[in-house]
Amino acid sequence: MDIPKQLLKILPSVRRPSRYIGHEWNRIIKDPKTVDLKVVLAFPDGYEIGMSYPGYQILYHILNRRRDILCERVYAPFPDMEKALRDKQLSLFSLENFRPVQEFDVIGVTLQYELHATNLLTILNLAELPIWTNQRSDSDPLVIAGGPCAYNPEPVAPFLDAILLGDGEDAVHAMMDVIIDGKQKGLPKRSILQSLAQLPGLYVPQFYHPHYQNGIFSGITADPGAPLPVVAAYITRLQDDNYPDKPLVPLSEVSHNRLQVEIMRGCTRGCRFCQAGMIYRPLRERSPLSISRQVAKGLDTTGYEELSLVSLSTSDYGQLTPLLEELDKVISSRNVSLSFPSLRPDTFTQSMAERASTARTGGITFAPEAGTDRLRAVINKAGDEQDLYRACTIALNHGWRKIKLYFMIGLPTETDDDLIGICEMVRGIFRLPDSHRLQGVTLSISPFVPKAQTPFQRLPQITGEELKRKTLFLKDRLPRRKIKVDWRNPRVAEIEGILA
Ligand code: SF4
Repeated sequence: MDIPKQLLKILPSVRRPSRYIGHEWNRIIKDPKTVDLKVVLAFPDGYEIGMSYPGYQILYHILNRRRDILCERVYAPFPDMEKALRDKQLSLFSLENFRPVQEFDVIGVTLQYELHATNLLTILNLAELPIWTNQRSDSDPLVIAGGPCAYNPEPVAPFLDAILLGDGEDAVHAMMDVIIDGKQKGLPKRSILQSLAQLPGLYVPQFYHPHYQNGIFSGITADPGAPLPVVAAYITRLQDDNYPDKPLVPLSEVSHNRLQVEIMRGCTRGCRFCQAGMIYRPLRERSPLSISRQVAKGLDTTGYEELSLVSLSTSDYGQLTPLLEELDKVISSRNVSLSFPSLRPDTFTQSMAERASTARTGGITFAPEAGTDRLRAVINKAGDEQDLYRACTIALNHGWRKIKLYFMIGLPTETDDDLIGICEMVRGIFRLPDSHRLQGVTLSISPFVPKAQTPFQRLPQITGEELKRKTLFLKDRLPRRKIKVDWRNPRVAEIEGILA
């Protein structure tokens, strides 16, 4: 079927057609006849989210740098496009060459969030592939997933040929070499998977047998030759050449419309609920010079006017002052503004604010996570409310007018007093001497969901009903003026908990 021709008929009927036409600045087009392996990176969420995820761009760059591999992209279509594809019986296609996803050798999926599991199935179904691994044939693509949700792989294991735990940079090369070798030798899929299972960080579900007692996971056994336990892969250094010099630039607005540059990976703080803090250990920092070189190249090849320094906890970066000085040389001459992702209030400094206050986004985000010292001690989150007030004062004095705060509710041992503590913290911000400058505070309230590999992984999650009660309790007690509260649908939180 001529996909571009069919697509032209569909596009006028769907919202934001730019999601489905590719042609982004810096996209990479290769001739499939010149490569040994065709990979499609499938992001199981909408285009705007997927294009904002820097890890996806790293993999796209790493794979396409190899002459023997072609790597294209696909994102989960929105429901209107999904319906249009089904109505027209059009198979899901990649954005570079409009090639049906089922024609690739490998489908690489990143599972960033528990609810991506359902979109993974939608992608496979729209690609006209059986969703169950054991129903796919040797001629169907290998479906391989990675990302944080891979650390609790069993909910998605029946749909995946292999699951990568840990850092992808080195592991993808080893995986692709094995697959190319197997393909050239004409090996059956099972033999290729047996070789993949020997690689660090690779879990090949069909060689493992989970056991359950009364529906609860009780252990796992492995076929002879399959390593147990599977140990996550990790890279010892964040190498410059793994980062794209020419990041993709979307043609339309996406969630993070700016140059995003990773400055370090890992976090040593050890907040007990935080999966990222546990699974991305050890801490690895890049040098200020490496970062500023990448920033200069990235800005010149994209035209972005805003830079974001990406890490789990940017204010903990060990060489922050030298980095900000290096970056100043690069960004001030280009009239580029600097923004930070969410910050720990206890580590936000005057010097960070001075460097970043040219950011035009108008908002700054702090993550106190809990409303009282007692509960912050339970979750091992450093800092107190005075740290938050100090950070807000610095922000207000340096031009920010909107403050966003991340809190979790439903945390272990939480009582209503801890929720009242959140309200008190917010009221305290409005009592600051500089609060007349404040245009608004947004509270982003997330439910606590016990995540794999964290100290809280086996603790219970509150019910959707209780989550709703706590949310309303909080909303009723917060000041009405200049406050916006974002919270998660309780039903969604329950599903997230089941999959996590
Ligand atoms: S919540 Fe933030 S500071 Fe705490 S461990 Fe996670 S990334 Fe680190």
